[in-house]
Amino acid sequence: MAVKAPCGAANWARDPGRNGSPVAHLQDVSRVYANPDGSVLVQALQEIDLEIGHGESLAIMGPSGSGKSTLLNILGCLDRPTSGRFLLDQADVSTLHDAALSRIRGRMIGFVFQAFNLIPELSILENVEVPLFYGHVPRDERRTRAVAMLRRVGLGDRHRDRPAVFSGGQQQRIAIARALVTRPSILLADEPTGNLDSATSASLLDLFDELHDEGLTIIVVTHDLHVADRCDRVIVLGDGRIVRDDRTTGDDA
Ligand code: ADP
Ligand code: MG
Repeated sequence: MAVKAPCGAANWARDPGRNGSPVAHLQDVSRVYANPDGSVLVQALQEIDLEIGHGESLAIMGPSGSGKSTLLNILGCLDRPTSGRFLLDQADVSTLHDAALSRIRGRMIGFVFQAFNLIPELSILENVEVPLFYGHVPRDERRTRAVAMLRRVGLGDRHRDRPAVFSGGQQQRIAIARALVTRPSILLADEPTGNLDSATSASLLDLFDELHDEGLTIIVVTHDLHVADRCDRVIVLGDGRIVRDDRTTGDDA
């Protein structure tokens, strides 16, 4: 597979395999949704042990209700385990308060969603700048980094246009640029090809492969076997537990 030379914006291979330690490590993690009286409503995740290596690409599969979104939310620091520990880059983040958790999230995690979630009133350049604005990055640097990131995902011009004039595939690329402009360690994607036709999905997966080759850790929730086939590893959830954990040899499928 063709590997594009990393451009200046790509430095997510920050800690390539630091001591071989995982970038994310769930230890005996359970997540319970409780009733107002505190009694157990749903046991969404049960005693999950999972190590995800730096630079790994992981697909999370499983039927509806099996706990995929709950797992992704914990990995993305949007939620906390009810019990067990979650180590992100070796730091225990399972007991952090909201503000601290959200700081870590801004620094370490990029999110991509099925619905793109771009802001329609802003130009695509401004959309990509938004996370840097919240990260208090100065204006000039914001602009430079957003332009470089848009170029990296193949949208080198039309910066002033709004998202609506772009195709679905292009809007997903803009969303990826926005997710990566903060130089996160992990890209989390929830059904990123769910709204795309198969040709557009394939070209998006090529981009994921390139980013993965540059050292980015990618974790993707998907029902799409084409997506899962291109990951290093596939885990399948059932009733809040990991019922399968398949690693490939790392060869391109
Ligand atoms: P998936 O993404 O695989 O469809 P989820 O993680 O969304 O699964 O949900 C796992 C289980 O937890 C399901 O039974 C779901 O109904 C339940 N659940 C998810 N979110 C909540 C919530 N906020 N309150 C109560 N139950 C929830
Ligand atoms: Mg879900």
